[in-house]
Amino acid sequence: MKIYKILTAICLLSILFGFRLIDANIRWKISEEDPYLWIKLTDRTLTFESNSIDDPGDSIYDLKNPGIVEVMQSIINDANGIFGSYLRLELYPEDVNNLESGSHYDATKAEKRIIEIGEDSLFLASGVASWQSDGENIIGCKISFAKEDKKEVRSFIATMTHEIGHCLGLHHPQELVDSIMSYFKQSRFYRYQIDDKMGISYLYPANIKDLDHKEHNTYGLSCKFRGD
Ligand SMILES: [Zn+2]
Repeated sequence: MKIYKILTAICLLSILFGFRLIDANIRWKISEEDPYLWIKLTDRTLTFESNSIDDPGDSIYDLKNPGIVEVMQSIINDANGIFGSYLRLELYPEDVNNLESGSHYDATKAEKRIIEIGEDSLFLASGVASWQSDGENIIGCKISFAKEDKKEVRSFIATMTHEIGHCLGLHHPQELVDSIMSYFKQSRFYRYQIDDKMGISYLYPANIKDLDHKEHNTYGLSCKFRGD
């Protein structure tokens, strides 16, 4: 009974402080067997003027003037590396008639699976995401970013990671949490944090066979009864 109460308290805490979804039932129509969404850049030639990333472990760390394609690839790698989520983002091909090796692009599937990213010179906030749904699923998303944001790569990554989070179905958490989706996020955050990762794994949960296996693990203890 006591344990039950503690579990309830933990669940309540995770609801109050955890990730928030735009709508509990709305997400992209993808699956573990067919997990791809494509990120389409309106302008692939853009390069950044400065880079304030100070984490040597980050793939963009030592690049002085990175291009938007490699920056976007680092954002994609971050999202694809979330443990417990089957979601896979992929850069939309530069030439759909001449696919690079390893591309999963499929024109028919991509019709309803594109996140389009482009600059909006009239726009004053740093970024905005707007998605369309057919009532059941997200079938498209558009992200606009401000001219100012294409100068410094770290703030661009923070904006884009946040807006892609919206495109995937995440909302702003209400509390001050470890989340790039939060209004009150710590300024050092520019990639997905634990709270965001939990949200993405919740929306696109991978079937983790190892974890399933562990449920039946006896940790070396045997409960076999030996009667006389
Ligand atoms: Zn937002």
